[in-house]
Amino acid sequence: MSELRQNFFTKEWVIIATERAKRPEEMASRRPERNAAAFVPTCPFCPGNEDKTPPEVLRIPAGGGHDPWQVRVIPNKFAALSRDVQPGRTIHRTRRTIQGFGVHDVIVETPSHSLSIAHMPDSEVANILRCYRARHQELSLDPRIEHITIFKNHGVDAGTSLEHPHSQLVASPVISYQVRQRVHEALRHYDEYGECITCQNIEEELEDKVRIVMATEHFVALELFASYSPFCTHIYPRRHMASFGDISAAEINDLARTLRTVLAKLHTGLNDPDYNFTIRSAPAECVGVKYFHWYLSVIPRLTRVAGFELGSGMFINTVLPEAAAEFLRNVKVEAAVAVGV
Ligand SMILES: [Zn+2]
Ligand SMILES: [Zn+2]
Repeated sequence: MSELRQNFFTKEWVIIATERAKRPEEMASRRPERNAAAFVPTCPFCPGNEDKTPPEVLRIPAGGGHDPWQVRVIPNKFAALSRDVQPGRTIHRTRRTIQGFGVHDVIVETPSHSLSIAHMPDSEVANILRCYRARHQELSLDPRIEHITIFKNHGVDAGTSLEHPHSQLVASPVISYQVRQRVHEALRHYDEYGECITCQNIEEELEDKVRIVMATEHFVALELFASYSPFCTHIYPRRHMASFGDISAAEINDLARTLRTVLAKLHTGLNDPDYNFTIRSAPAECVGVKYFHWYLSVIPRLTRVAGFELGSGMFINTVLPEAAAEFLRNVKVEAAVAVGV
């Protein structure tokens, strides 16, 4: 019997299609192995080619090894939005436009062309997260910025165009309809029950245990009860925080370990699938609110969105979230992680 489940946060409905349910291991990616070299002379993000990118806005300098730097943050050469215009609005009857103001950063995660987060030492993952936090905090202070999205596209099916490991940040002068909607729903729940809906959900999931992938001192990684797609894994801070910019130093180290472990489990268990991850943080105007709780969402790209999803706004998931969680809990990764590369 299939089951319709409602997402506690977005209120969207998902069909968990157990009739055509697949065993988690059947979902493993079938793409050929990625075998990039550690250094590619023509790659603009490889060391030695720093002059091929716009000037850095932030750098974590070398840690004593041979590499000239550890992480670089640069403006995207092909930015979706531009920091050089003012966000003036025009409204003409039903047509509304804003000049394309915004900030579009690229975070070059490592000097190595082939080292993905799943295989980095935790300390290097923490450096990337520190760059996210620094940029998030700085851009949140700009009164023209309403919302900041941090994301990573890993692999062609996840929309990446450049192989060298990197993530991106887009700061926009508007709050999207989807984010507005979620903020409203969270506020409505807070008004009604006097609690953060996500804090409540984390508590319930820790009691239920069946959808937990891993829990650490500061974070919980789990499969959503109404997960839109197979192995979509959310990582929540246990401490209530509306904005990612409020993450502490200890929490950064813990998130680095949690994120790296989740990505390594996906890599090992599902044959290095393409994936996106994104940090969903409160809009700038909601920093510090009691009702919104930021989280990081990892979305493996194992299935495609098709006509039904586009037409109905509902999703069909063919892997039981409880089975996905059990599968990921059992993938052993410590041995697969290279330390001190
Ligand atoms: Zn490169
Ligand atoms: Zn909360």
